[in-house]
Amino acid sequence: MNIIFMGPPGAGKGTQAERIVMEFEIPHISTGDAFRLAMSQGTPLGLKAKEYVDQGLLVPDEITIGIVKERLQQEDCGKGFLLDGFPRTISQAEALDSIMADMERKIDYAINLVVDRKLLLDRLTGRRICKKCGATYHVLFNPPKAENICDKCSGELYQRSDDTAEKVGTRLDEYINKTAPLLDYYRSKNLLLEVNGEEEIDTVTSNIVKILRGQVQ
Ligand code: ADP
Ligand code: ADP
Ligand code: ZN
Repeated sequence: MNIIFMGPPGAGKGTQAERIVMEFEIPHISTGDAFRLAMSQGTPLGLKAKEYVDQGLLVPDEITIGIVKERLQQEDCGKGFLLDGFPRTISQAEALDSIMADMERKIDYAINLVVDRKLLLDRLTGRRICKKCGATYHVLFNPPKAENICDKCSGELYQRSDDTAEKVGTRLDEYINKTAPLLDYYRSKNLLLEVNGEEEIDTVTSNIVKILRGQVQ
């Protein structure tokens, strides 16, 4: 099963992806995680990405597409994959189509998590991430059992430097200008399925699972 998760920053893509990849045993491919890892290691890719990520801007297509292409060719993607946060521009979507065609594969579902813009600022500024395993929490909406400690691995939680009110504004503008047009792209291919992302985390997960199991059209 080859799946794309779409939706604005803070819609719940990462949270749902963590759960869906466990259920379906496919790799979770997050371009945001890939950039953050490269940035923390200070690699040439990380240094380049940092110029954009720190400002809340999208990283240029040629850099982003290269990373995804390489990742999709790895063996563990043979049984399927979940792309979280890619594609985010029309040219990324076109590149993905051609990567899929070269591999004689196709996208099965593009799931759009629908959340009203006014909820996103609170979701993003309260988000916390585990330093060790990358699990996502929220100080109010999905708090860890012990403050600032990951339930899964006891790692320390941190706040992303782009999860500030100032950067969130730029990121949402980038989403509206460059990523939202992709919804029509996938709608016209009959691949787009919309899920209400404002419901409880568990409810959203079970609604996605139903779609992926073919119980909902
Ligand atoms: P994205 O990957 O789309 O940017 P995340 O999955 O990181 O979004 O979620 C953003 C924040 O909102 C996180 O702090 C997460 O814990 C919280 N969150 C995710 N889904 C929900 C939900 N259904 N209800 C309330 N809070 C949520
Ligand atoms: P969120 O889901 O909260 O927007 P991500 O972790 O997916 O955050 O992305 C963080 C940042 O990484 C983005 O603001 C952008 O700078 C960069 N990024 C991630 N995915 C892409 C992409 N497909 N194209 C360009 N830049 C990206
Ligand atoms: Zn952890």
